[in-house]
Amino acid sequence: MPIVKNFFIGLSNNTLLNNAAKEIGPMLGANKVVAGNTIPALLDTIERLNDKGITVTVDCLGEFVDTEGEAIQAKDQILEVMYAINNHNLNGHMSIKLSQLGSEFDIDLAYRNLREILLKANEFNNMHINIDTEKYDSLFDITQVLDRLKGEFKNVGTVIQAYLYKADALVDKYPELRLRMVKGAYKEADNIAYQTKEEIDENYIRLIKKRLLTAKNVTSIATHDDRVITHILQFIKDNNIPKHRYEFQMLYGFRTELAEEIAKDGYNFCIYVPFGDDWFGYFMRRLAERPQNLNLMFKEFTKPEVLKKAGIVAASVTALGATIALFKKFTSK
Ligand SMILES: Cc1cc2nc3c(=O)[nH]c(=O)nc-3n(C[C@H](O)[C@H](O)[C@H](O)COP(=O)(O)OP(=O)(O)OC[C@H]3O[C@@H](n4cnc5c(N)ncnc54)[C@H](O)[C@@H]3O)c2cc1C
Repeated sequence: MPIVKNFFIGLSNNTLLNNAAKEIGPMLGANKVVAGNTIPALLDTIERLNDKGITVTVDCLGEFVDTEGEAIQAKDQILEVMYAINNHNLNGHMSIKLSQLGSEFDIDLAYRNLREILLKANEFNNMHINIDTEKYDSLFDITQVLDRLKGEFKNVGTVIQAYLYKADALVDKYPELRLRMVKGAYKEADNIAYQTKEEIDENYIRLIKKRLLTAKNVTSIATHDDRVITHILQFIKDNNIPKHRYEFQMLYGFRTELAEEIAKDGYNFCIYVPFGDDWFGYFMRRLAERPQNLNLMFKEFTKPEVLKKAGIVAASVTALGATIALFKKFTSK
């Protein structure tokens, strides 16, 4: 249902709502999908997951970076998190968006920020640094920066969005890099990306198989789709793919039981942990993928004490909640 997807993707780009939501995130239940906004809270979450045999990749949330100062601040926060993970001997790495580091207005600034992060990562046991993929119009910047850095650093990788027609070529281009395979989270035009769920799922499975047979580094299979996971597990068995060549990934707060079950069965598992109070755009993209995800927070939206406590700010975001609830009504089966 593209209209629903467009609606939530549109909201994810709304600066006003994003700022309003920051203040009352925890009251609305954002902490169910985001690991708090302090380093100790984040470390607690990582420790809890590590104790279950699950590693993490941390995303320091930040949607709108418009100035050099904001990009440097984002880079410093990432370094602070890396330092804390390393200092506490936790098992985790980082997922970073180039736009956070300034790529939308100065690609060289983003490159310099990322290089500084990678130099520090080398001191922290070669901590892996993943460049998340964003809208298609930023893909060229990502591959340019990656191509500049991959000779110097072995611990950098990126994400393949299987909905892109270009995904196949990118899998072929980077066999030596650690790559995360996803279906793709944004709304793209039909001259750029597959549009139907059937086509995207088919391409996703095909590319994961190709990657598992050809790659010289880890493939992260990042999906909540149990049918895809079951299919790929069978492929892995049939083709004797060694365990160190792949892992499964899911987002924090989504399908937790399934994630823990897979980890318990002895497979490498990594949870993507968003951190910080800039949760709104992130969560709107999750709703664009699957409006039923609203169930995670819906109860909180309707609590009277939430409305009272948060006053005007809550009113605007709760009005949004009501709109979303309407969409939920129309989209739930
Ligand atoms: C770790 C991770 C990192 C990501 N990084 C990026 C990135 O860098 N760039 C990018 O564009 N996208 C990224 N994504 C998002 C990704 O592209 C998809 O948009 C997102 O994962 C939704 O697709 P899906 O494969 O999980 O399954 P979907 O196609 O959303 O769902 C398929 C089926 O799985 C089941 N299902 C899914 N979710 C649930 C649930 N919560 N509860 C119960 N059943 C469920 C349902 O049966 C559903 O029909 C990332 C996703 C993950 C997990």
